[in-house]
Amino acid sequence: MNPTPPEHEQSQLWFERALTVSPGGVNSPVRAFRAVGGTPRFMVGAEGAWLTDADGDRYVDLIGSWGPMLLGHAHPEVVAAVQQAASRGTSFGTPSPSEVELAEEIVARAPVDQLRLVSSGTEATMSAIRLARGFTGRDMVVKFAGCYHGHVDALLAQAGSGVVTLGLPETPGVPGHVTADTVVLPYNDRDAVEAAFAELGPRIACVITEAAAGNMGVVPPEPGFNQFLSETCRSHGSLFISDEVMTGFRVTRSGQWGLDGAQEGWRPDLMTFGKVMGGGFPAAAFGGRADVMAQLAPSGPVYQAGTLSGNPVATTAGLTTLRLADDDVYARVDSWSASAQSLVTDALTQAGVPHVLQTAGSMFSVFWGVTDPVTDFAGAQAQETWRYRAFFHAMLDAGVYLPPSAYECWFVSAAHDDEALSRMAAALPEAASAAASASAPDHEGTR
Ligand code: PLP
Repeated sequence: MNPTPPEHEQSQLWFERALTVSPGGVNSPVRAFRAVGGTPRFMVGAEGAWLTDADGDRYVDLIGSWGPMLLGHAHPEVVAAVQQAASRGTSFGTPSPSEVELAEEIVARAPVDQLRLVSSGTEATMSAIRLARGFTGRDMVVKFAGCYHGHVDALLAQAGSGVVTLGLPETPGVPGHVTADTVVLPYNDRDAVEAAFAELGPRIACVITEAAAGNMGVVPPEPGFNQFLSETCRSHGSLFISDEVMTGFRVTRSGQWGLDGAQEGWRPDLMTFGKVMGGGFPAAAFGGRADVMAQLAPSGPVYQAGTLSGNPVATTAGLTTLRLADDDVYARVDSWSASAQSLVTDALTQAGVPHVLQTAGSMFSVFWGVTDPVTDFAGAQAQETWRYRAFFHAMLDAGVYLPPSAYECWFVSAAHDDEALSRMAAALPEAASAAASASAPDHEGTR
């Protein structure tokens, strides 16, 4: 297969230029197509559910900028609000009304008393952890294997063997002493959490988890797992941080995953948000209990700051997006997602590809070559990612842009319509057969 047909020569040319000036030709690793092979498409425009590449080809977009584009691309009201905000000035470096309004909107919906705005999800989780450590006077952080919280040094740690594993840095550049206070546990494993607290409880500042894991493919928490984490933290004087950067405002209007229905009545001590709340601009936040947030400078001693934090254009985009995201938007996103999921499952089943499709609200992903539900990172790693490579390229060639890694989740928007669904339906049979007939490479690549 030629992953870059001649008609994609503009993408090829841009990639060659990019490789000269950027490591790997990209500004975030997964965009480089290393997990699926081939040349990344360079996008020049996006509208609604569609992306347009530098060669003029259109794709149904199933990544939505990795989550933010809940309303679809270039929503006219968001664009108009952003244009107006930009015409009033793009950055003040002073307090301004739109940041207050965005914080009010989030505080009104999510179980947080106060909020601090930042510019990326990484900043949000990094700052939340610093605050948890400052508040508790403790150093250790518990995280779960397969959960991604941005490229925070202390959180780039992986699990080794054993129930309680002190983190080892996952990347050169992170000193061992920085991850020495990170404990990595298997996701959804209550026994491991209890063992960690039995051994290290008085030293644990916080537990951080994705509200529903979306960075090892979609792996939802088992019922009650988040609540169990929260209660365990409370009984040991630790803080529970729910990372909703991906799930927040994407799967529910309230900004929280897994706190609805039966699990109501408890709340995280701190939450982190990003993606949808920035409406496609760099805006993110962390927030939570008033007594914890009061420790943040200038109210308290824990320092945190940002030149562009609360930027007026970004906060306007986020505020406009959240205000437009009513129940009807979530109903449309859920319904399109459910239709797409059925199409994918039917096509793979018909082609005889063993798979498990997992969901967290409208977010979903497929685990290839497995038959049992995936509940943790070890399960996710057992999949046959090479089947996805074949599937991905067949879909791409047919005009459907999927995440270029089997470990990422698929995002849809309220702008996904029948035309987008028809494009998917037309592309799926051939892609499913490509996945069925793909053969394992000699050396399976890593994520
Ligand atoms: N937390 C979660 C759950 C995420 O999915 C991500 C990014 O994908 C982050 C944090 C980091 O956000 P950002 O890429 O904006 O730094």
